This record gives sequence, structure tokens and C-alpha cells, in this order.
Amino acid sequence: MVAGRGRAPSADGSEACEGGCTCRAVRYRMESSPLIVHGCHCRWCQRETGSAFATNALIETDRLTLLGEAPECVDTPSASGRGQAIFRCPSCRVAVWSRYGGFEPVRFVRVGTLDDPDRYPPGIHIYTSSKQPWVRLPEGVPAVTEYYDAKQVWSPESLARRAVYAAALRNT
Ligand SMILES: [Zn+2]
Ligand SMILES: [Zn+2]
Repeated sequence: MVAGRGRAPSADGSEACEGGCTCRAVRYRMESSPLIVHGCHCRWCQRETGSAFATNALIETDRLTLLGEAPECVDTPSASGRGQAIFRCPSCRVAVWSRYGGFEPVRFVRVGTLDDPDRYPPGIHIYTSSKQPWVRLPEGVPAVTEYYDAKQVWSPESLARRAVYAAALRNT
């Protein structure tokens, strides 16, 4: 990601939305809607958020524009063993997004850091095998005990976007 050089917001600005940390040093804009939103109920997310589950909006790294200070990258162990880089405000340490397993093209934005987090509820609940028992999942939203195949869950538009970054990755 390059500060101040993202895609231009859509003409009416309807898909772009901003967010940031609590002290407001880190501010960012998602230039479009996310690929999908995960409600992750794994124990790792429970521990890292101190909450019942994490809500992560997956979006291409080049659709994230920094408006303020750059967040600091903190290497954190992950269930896969490949590590998770958690990007935190250098001042207040709030986590704004993650990169999993060194995979550069996509960031997992913490939905709770958006100015309007209500806008992006989970499109799928994952790792429900470790879901806290009091959490009731909404009807009609896919839920899987572990992970899933994007081809079966993502919208055609998101799969087309995935094909773009997958192709770019092959060419590097
Ligand atoms: Zn901050
Ligand atoms: Zn998780």
C-alpha cells in the first residue's frame, strides 16, 4: 500500500468508507466494498480481540488508502504457523488490519474500526466449532465449522476481483 495513492473513489462515493484507530492518528479509506466479510470464531481471534469473534472485511491491499499515519506491523503467531502481521496504530496500538501468511494482495480490515461498522455484517461465519455458546448466528448467513472454498461462497463480482490479483501474483 502506498500512502495517498489508492484508486479514486467511485463517482458517487457510495462504496468508499473510512475508518481508523481510537486516537485518530491512523486513518484510512476502503475504496470499494470488501470482497467478503468474515465473522471468525476461532480461538485465536477470540484471544486477539478479547471478544467472542473477529469481524474482518477482506479487501485488496491496493484498495486501501492511508489518510493519516502508517500503522505499525506487528508479527504475531497464527494457527496456520505462517504468521499473521497485525497492523496497529503506533500511538494507541489499536489494530486496524491484518495480513495473513505473508499474502500481500489482501488485507483483513477490522470492521469495528470503520466509522460505519454497521454497514458490513459478516457474509459468512467461520470456525464455528469454537464459537462461544451464547453467540446465536443469524439465519440465512452461511456458517462453517472451519474454513471454506471461496468459489462456493463469494459473489461472482468478488471472484472476478480475486482472479485479477491472482493473475497479478503469477506475473511477479
Ligand atoms: Zn491511534
Ligand atoms: Zn480467527
